[in-house]
Amino acid sequence: MDSIQALRGTRDILPEEVGYWQRVASVAEAVLSRANYQEIRTPIFEQTALFERGIGEATDVVGKEMYTFTDRGDRSITLRPEGTAGVVRAYIERKLHAAGGVQRLWYFGPMFRYERPQAGRQRQFHQIGVEVLGSDDPRADVEVIAAATEILQTLGLQNLHLDLNSVGDPEDRRRYRQALVDYLTPYQDELDPDSRDRLTRNPMRILDSKDKRTREIAENAPSILDHLGDRSRAHFDRVQYLLTELGISYTLNPRLVRGLDYYTHTAFEIISDDLGAQATVCGGGRYDGLVRELGGPQVPAVGWAIGLERLIILLQQLHEPPNLAPEFYLVSRGEKAESRALILAQKLRGAGFRVELDLSGSAFGKQFKRADRSGAAACLVLGDAEAEAGTVNLKWLKTGEQSAIAQSDLLDKVADLRRQVEAAKNP
Ligand code: ATP
Ligand code: MG
Repeated sequence: MDSIQALRGTRDILPEEVGYWQRVASVAEAVLSRANYQEIRTPIFEQTALFERGIGEATDVVGKEMYTFTDRGDRSITLRPEGTAGVVRAYIERKLHAAGGVQRLWYFGPMFRYERPQAGRQRQFHQIGVEVLGSDDPRADVEVIAAATEILQTLGLQNLHLDLNSVGDPEDRRRYRQALVDYLTPYQDELDPDSRDRLTRNPMRILDSKDKRTREIAENAPSILDHLGDRSRAHFDRVQYLLTELGISYTLNPRLVRGLDYYTHTAFEIISDDLGAQATVCGGGRYDGLVRELGGPQVPAVGWAIGLERLIILLQQLHEPPNLAPEFYLVSRGEKAESRALILAQKLRGAGFRVELDLSGSAFGKQFKRADRSGAAACLVLGDAEAEAGTVNLKWLKTGEQSAIAQSDLLDKVADLRRQVEAAKNP
């Protein structure tokens, strides 16, 4: 029979890779909790209307990329393509705004988009994201950027740069939109078909088209930065000043846009020079109109999302996978020895060691081979003789040095053992 394979655009994350994921999660958790972000977990599927309103019907995500289906109760359901809409829905529905003040939230989980799979682009992928709700202060924009930067730096990533822009407020954008359409209309026939279509629906998105000719045309387009009103200008100047104060360098990129009305002011991306075409590891910005758009009060907000797959590719280029080898490998043979070994394994685990118990019951020689292959620091051996004598044979696998120890003594020497295990791991 044919075997069933994973769907295109999905991947198994096997044990040898999981260590990288755990490292990213623990660094993010540590950095974000020090800045007093709280984790939030929202459902993986939501009503389709949430994303239509929360991301916008004119976007690629909603227009072409959503996994939408009708459930058995005839509801239109969508697997979340991103995290912000669900978090904002929860914020409104669970009245997190009632507490007043600023809410700092973070999330981690799988997202789903029907895209063409390639390196760094999948149909099921993972994001870590933050949302800061309740402040329109430029310090909030800078705080979230600083948190992303710190996570990426702590992971040891290099060759990253920050692209920064302001998309102003809806009023600025109406003016800019008109200037852009006036500029682009004469080139209408030279634009790629998607961009031509956007000219009426969402012209700002034309600026981040990947088409060569469209990009050339966009090169000389008017800049949004020349269309900011006084308030937007002041906000953006302050963001830049504060970034500089924190020592975070950036490049202005007026083509970095979020073309929807509820995105406002700051937009940014963190991009790696060490990835191919899919080089953006973090994208974010301010969205002062979204909470209201989704039926809540007027609450300003800013956030970002980091794509984990791209981060893991970078980490794999930089670091060996974390060592998953056991510290002790227990070899035993004979009825009494096997039960003693099981007890000893539990005791060592209780004392904090990583312990593998050989379950094969095969000849000692075979078990020793497996002990070697396991990469363990030491092997503990119990045969009938040891079981009778109440001892265990401790063998350090790198040096071959061995000694018989009373089983009852082993646990009295935990500190000693820990020191020896660490020494064997890092020669
Ligand atoms: P792109 O331009 O690469 O499609 P995007 O603007 O659609 O990105 P966002 O919605 O801002 O991406 O998501 C933030 C981050 O999530 C991206 O910078 C990227 O690292 C990651 N990401 C987005 N889509 C995918 C995907 N299909 N597969 C893997 N990672 C993704
Ligand atoms: Mg995309």
